[in-house]
Amino acid sequence: MPVRLPVVGSPSRTETACRCYRRHYLQDVIQYELYRSPALSFGTVMHEGVGVFWQMGGPQAGLMSYAAGLEAMTDEWKRLLPDGAKHTLESATKMYEAYTANAVLAGPFPGDYTPFLIEKRNELEFGGRILSYKVDRAVENQDDGSLVILDLKTASKINDKWHGNFNRTLQMKLYKYAMMFQYERDVQVCIEGLSKDPRPKFEYHICPQWDHDTLLEAFHEWERHAIMDEEFIQMAFDRSTEEGREVWDCAEEIGVLDTPFNYGDCYSYFIECPFYRLCTAPPSMRHLLLKADYTRVESDLDNG
Ligand code: SF4
Repeated sequence: MPVRLPVVGSPSRTETACRCYRRHYLQDVIQYELYRSPALSFGTVMHEGVGVFWQMGGPQAGLMSYAAGLEAMTDEWKRLLPDGAKHTLESATKMYEAYTANAVLAGPFPGDYTPFLIEKRNELEFGGRILSYKVDRAVENQDDGSLVILDLKTASKINDKWHGNFNRTLQMKLYKYAMMFQYERDVQVCIEGLSKDPRPKFEYHICPQWDHDTLLEAFHEWERHAIMDEEFIQMAFDRSTEEGREVWDCAEEIGVLDTPFNYGDCYSYFIECPFYRLCTAPPSMRHLLLKADYTRVESDLDNG
């Protein structure tokens, strides 16, 4: 989401904003990065292959869908070239094989289902702000019309902690809220977990049946952060007019100096936040550091 209005916010960006608003602003609003995360690129590669696999008919279509997905995944790999020892084309292929050998159209839900959405981005407008969400796959129950969202997550390990995270995930609550609002159906959410090498593991996790108030609470988090984005973007426009400076220049300065931050999240998942050296530099140095050490990426919305 570049510096423009109306604000477009996604479930995954809201999740980042809840952890540390400054990180969200730097990476999602003014779109800076220190390096391209190999894990993120690796996830994109898997999504590409799996998306084509389902678009071509999934397990029912046999070798045709398998081969088409593998080709799409390999092409995406060549485009993004995720770096790092853990992220090789061979390991991606093993994961793709584990996925296609185990995944079922409606996951663990019994009954007669047909595809409803595959790799589809939807947008909803609330109060002049856009909630944009991308569904990996949604299937429709042929008896009662209810929907199941199936969302692929690649992970280093699938264990109790991994399962526990998805019982309270804000991202999935927002998917469910948006789908229920848009299609006026019952919606269930299921995660497809696919772990990395050496032996890829595939497991489902059915998210809890969150009640309406819980979903509304998640929606309010999205709204609260969309309003904050809007206010900071407006502040950049106003400052630019008053001081006769470029909007981008003002937006960057606001990002490194004025946005709320959370030092408690700097080492989440034991990985240092890419903006750590920026956030801990003296305030007078930060804007220069941002321009010198970080790269702006004009990215589309992420998978969320
Ligand atoms: S370094 Fe810490 S405070 Fe700064 S953006 Fe990252 S998580 Fe937020």
